[in-house]
Amino acid sequence: MHSNAIQSAVSVLEKSRNGYVAKSTPATGDPRLDALYGKGVYVLHLRIEKEARANVGRLGRIVFAAGYYAYVGRAFGPGGLFARLTHHLRPSTSPHWHIDFLRPHGVVDKIWWSRTAPACEHSWARGLMRLRGASASVRGFGSSDCRCDSHLIHLTRRPRRAAFRRHLHRLAADCAPPIRCLRIEG
Ligand SMILES: [Zn+2]
Repeated sequence: MHSNAIQSAVSVLEKSRNGYVAKSTPATGDPRLDALYGKGVYVLHLRIEKEARANVGRLGRIVFAAGYYAYVGRAFGPGGLFARLTHHLRPSTSPHWHIDFLRPHGVVDKIWWSRTAPACEHSWARGLMRLRGASASVRGFGSSDCRCDSHLIHLTRRPRRAAFRRHLHRLAADCAPPIRCLRIEG
């Protein structure tokens, strides 16, 4: 990703956070961003242009085919979604989560998020698997502490939010409120 694209996305986030802190209510004027001041579940959409090899912590060395990747996570710690999404936009120098090892090899296309219950992340992973061209990329990726095959889904085509939400609604309607989108590139 171009660094100026990261910077502009982060500055949008930071600008709206400052607005939030000053007014102590989410009021950025942008309803997509107002939702960031809570905790919730998100999908980080990465594009891998060329086959990539990466050491992914305990999972070892993994080959990632080119294509679209959707990583599902939840942000319920301090700083909520804002802190986590900012973390993903700036590749980490000290990788912690599995996704941190893959992140430098890809371009962030967009981020979907919603203020849902923590357990919805697993329904979201299942919902992504229902999309055409989807497969569990690496068993156990991001899912060491749950029963999902993977929280990283490989997609042979660009995922569509409307299709994802339809699948999600059928799987777990409680986990399918309106889903926000922050476009980073493209
Ligand atoms: Zn899971």
